[in-house]
Amino acid sequence: MSTMFYIRQSSIGQFYACPAKYAFSRKYDYVGPVSWWLRDGSQAHALMAGQRPDQVEPSDRALLMFQRMSEYVDNHGYTIIEREVFQVVPVTRVISLVRTVDALVYDKDRTPMLLDYKFTGRPWAELEATGWGPGLAPQAMGFQSKAYLHPPKDATPFKKWPSIIRYLVCDDQEGITISRHEHIRRPTDREQLVGALRTIKDAHDKDRTPKNEGFMCAKYCDYRAICMQEPGYSDLYKLNEAKDPYEKPIRSGDNSY
Ligand code: SF4
Repeated sequence: MSTMFYIRQSSIGQFYACPAKYAFSRKYDYVGPVSWWLRDGSQAHALMAGQRPDQVEPSDRALLMFQRMSEYVDNHGYTIIEREVFQVVPVTRVISLVRTVDALVYDKDRTPMLLDYKFTGRPWAELEATGWGPGLAPQAMGFQSKAYLHPPKDATPFKKWPSIIRYLVCDDQEGITISRHEHIRRPTDREQLVGALRTIKDAHDKDRTPKNEGFMCAKYCDYRAICMQEPGYSDLYKLNEAKDPYEKPIRSGDNSY
């Protein structure tokens, strides 16, 4: 065990949605059935990461979403430098971020940036007016952007870590559509990120991770069975000590640790 506390990027949103869900996920692997929309999203993601269809065995929907996303990337002039970039990035003396960037790219104007692929049921909503301009999607401004744009010590393959993250969002609400949203690093991002990470570490250290029972429980939480002590719940989870936030993360096939 180290003195460094490791926080996976996706755990930040998870903690703020339900602290108990974060706590369960840092102890257990969920090994039960996966919903079809999560399965499709992760299959399309795996194909974008370079896995072959015979390795992934995608559903028709996942394959179609992957094909549309690949065409979009090609047709809009992105040059992919690296895919699936796994990084452990110190943010404070005792907290490190763990993240896997979908792709490091240049856009058609040779601007360096990060790309993130999303496969969802619905398009992201945009705000008509904000202090940073119209048409911004709140989902592009969240902790993921702040966490991914936090510069690592070594910015290779770039000289300087990009200040733009661009989300390509594939939805199938009215046929398969791809829309683009982005976040440009702001001066307040670091302060917000550090505050968010310190709160998570304190909550873990003090074992203060309350349940936020609400709409997520019924359909969107893999930890509901253990949280609500449903009959047979113990068959759905496997204790995984490597997920302890004080254990140095190693990359695994599903990007968890
Ligand atoms: S079932 Fe609800 S309260 Fe329990 S961990 Fe999941 S989201 Fe939180």
